[in-house]
Amino acid sequence: MSVGVNALRIRCVAACVHEQVAKWITNVHFDLKYKIIRRFNSMGLNKKSVDDINVAGKKVLVRCDFNVPLKDGKITDENRLVAALPTIKKLIADGGKIILCSHLGKVKTEEDKQTKTLAPVAARLSELLGQEVKFAADLEVVGPNAKAAVEAMKDGEVVLLENTRFRAEETKNGEAFSKDLASLCDVFVNDAFGTAHRAHCSNVGVASLVDTAVVGYLMQKEIDFLGNAVETPDRPFVAILGGAKVADKLNVISNLLEKCDTLIIGGGMAFTFLKAQGKEIGTSLVDDTKLDYCKEMIAKAEKLGKKLLLPVDAVVAGAFPNPIDAEIAVENVSVDAIPADKMGLDIGAETAKMYADAVKAAKTVVWNGPMGVFENPVLAKGTIAVAKSLAETDATTIIGGGDSAAAVNILGYGDKMSHISTGGGASLEFLEGKELPGVAAANDK
Ligand code: ATP
Repeated sequence: MSVGVNALRIRCVAACVHEQVAKWITNVHFDLKYKIIRRFNSMGLNKKSVDDINVAGKKVLVRCDFNVPLKDGKITDENRLVAALPTIKKLIADGGKIILCSHLGKVKTEEDKQTKTLAPVAARLSELLGQEVKFAADLEVVGPNAKAAVEAMKDGEVVLLENTRFRAEETKNGEAFSKDLASLCDVFVNDAFGTAHRAHCSNVGVASLVDTAVVGYLMQKEIDFLGNAVETPDRPFVAILGGAKVADKLNVISNLLEKCDTLIIGGGMAFTFLKAQGKEIGTSLVDDTKLDYCKEMIAKAEKLGKKLLLPVDAVVAGAFPNPIDAEIAVENVSVDAIPADKMGLDIGAETAKMYADAVKAAKTVVWNGPMGVFENPVLAKGTIAVAKSLAETDATTIIGGGDSAAAVNILGYGDKMSHISTGGGASLEFLEGKELPGVAAANDK
C-alpha cells in the first residue's frame, strides 16, 4: 500500500475476516452463479484443466499459492490453503501421487530460510485434507530429501516441497531449477493465480518442460470470471476503480474504458482527475505527472461514448489520519469548493449515491480499489456505500483483490459477491488486457 498505513493494525483487522473468507472460498466453488456462467460462457478458458486429465498412478506437481502470513510459525490466514483444496482433492481421488509446491514470501538471506519454511503449511494442510501431507524438508527444494520423499510415494499420497524461493533461480525462470522440478513429475498443474502474472520456474519454466501442463480449479475459476466480465459481459458493464495512485492503474483505466459502459473513479486517484479538470484539490493525493494522461482518458471516454463518473463531492480533513483509524474531524464539500488547506479522503455523500445508482443499473460490475481511506470508520462511508450496492444487486460482481477484497470482507459482504479474486496484482494485469504467463504456459484445449 502506498500511503502511511499502520500495516500491523490492518493485518489484525484482516485476520478477523480470514475465517469468513475461508468459508466463502470453500462454498464458492459450488456457487450456482458460477456453474451457470461456466455452462453458458462461450469464452471460457481455452486451457486444459484438471477435469481434462486423470492422473491415476502418475506423479503430479501442483503449483499452489501457499504464500500465507505467518506469525511465530503459526498461519494467521489460511484462506489460500482452503482455496487450493478442491484441486488437490480431485487429484487424490484420481489416485495420483501429489507433489505440492509454492513460494512463501521473499527469501533474501540465509536467515529467511529459517522463517520462510513451508513446514507449518504441511502440518495445517494435513488437518484440512484429513490425511498426511509429508513435508520434504530440503534447502535445495529438489535435493536428495525431496527426491527420496517423492520416490517413496504411493498413489493418493501428498508431499509438499520446501519454499521454491529457497532456490535463487526461481524468480528468474532459470533452467536448472525448472529442470529439477520437471524431473519429479509426469504432469504439471498450475493452480496459483496470485503468481500467474510472473514467469517463474515453478509456474512457467516447469510447464515448458513437461508434456502435460494444465490449470487447476482455482485458476480456472479466476480466469472464467475475469475473462467473462471483460470480454463478454452482460451489459451495462460498470467498472469501479479506486485506491491510492493513478500511476498504478494507468493501463487498467485505458483498457477498461474500451470494454465497459461506465467507468467510475473514486479513492485517492480521483483527485488527479479532478485537478486535470482544473479544480482546486487542496492537499489531496495527486500525481502531477499524470495530469495529461487523465485529460486523455476524459477525452477517450467522450470519444467512445462511455460514461466516466468522477466525484461531485468529497469528504475532506485537515490532514491524513495518524494513526490511520484515529478520530478525525471531517466535512463534506463539493469538488468545486475544496479548501486549499484540506485533503480529500473519501467520496462525498452525493457521489456515493450517484455511484450506487450506477451499480444498481449494471448487469456486470468489476471493482478494484477502495473509494476512500476505508481503514478509518469516518472515511469508510463511500467504500461502504459502494460495497453495499454491489452486495444488493443481482448483477455479476467481481472484486479485484487487494484492499477492495479486504474492505468487502471486513464489511461482511464477502459472501454476497459473485467472485473475489485471490490475486490482486494478477487480476489487475488481467484487466489491463495482458496475457498472464502462468496461464499461457498451460496446454491449450
Ligand atoms: P492493493 O494494491 O493492496 O491490491 P488496491 O489496489 O485495492 O490494493 P491501492 O491502490 O493499494 O488499492 O490503494 C488502497 C489505499 O488507498 C487504501 O489504503 C486507502 O486508505 C487509500 N486511499 C483511498 N482513498 C484515498 C485518498 N483519498 N487519499 C489517500 N489515500 C487513499
